[in-house]
Amino acid sequence: MVLKLAPGWGNSGKTHAFSGEVLLDAASLGPDVLSVSPIRVEGAYAGVTADAFRLFGRISARITAVCAKCLDEAVYDLDLPLEETVLRAGSLDSEPSEDRFTFTGDALDMDEMLRTYVLLALPLRYICGCLPERIQEMDAAAAEARRDISPFAVLLQNMEEV
Ligand SMILES: [Zn+2]
Repeated sequence: MVLKLAPGWGNSGKTHAFSGEVLLDAASLGPDVLSVSPIRVEGAYAGVTADAFRLFGRISARITAVCAKCLDEAVYDLDLPLEETVLRAGSLDSEPSEDRFTFTGDALDMDEMLRTYVLLALPLRYICGCLPERIQEMDAAAAEARRDISPFAVLLQNMEEV
């Protein structure tokens, strides 16, 4: 998604609304993510100087991932505030910095910005609305699995003693 800046935005003192969508590859959001809706952004920008503007709004998306508890599908709705000061590439203030987004000419490519916002907001583990009984069931199965591998653990222990 490319945000085209309105002519004269830099010194008009006006706020300009914008909206759009970005498609992200689910695989780029982590191994547990099954699918991701288009990343929706709605907001506004206002010029600060001829080389900088403020960008604010909201980012929303729906992510479907594997539940870490029960392996069912977990649906996770993202709704994030967006707030950035964006600098013209090559302007004095835009010294190389990892957390700065820049624009060129009258266009800001927002894909990388939106991807960064979404990545930073993702949970470490996805949990669906699985019922407590279901969790107990899974924990019991996990305990069973641990018992199944214990002979191997004993074998390892014996090997260490040799
Ligand atoms: Zn679950």
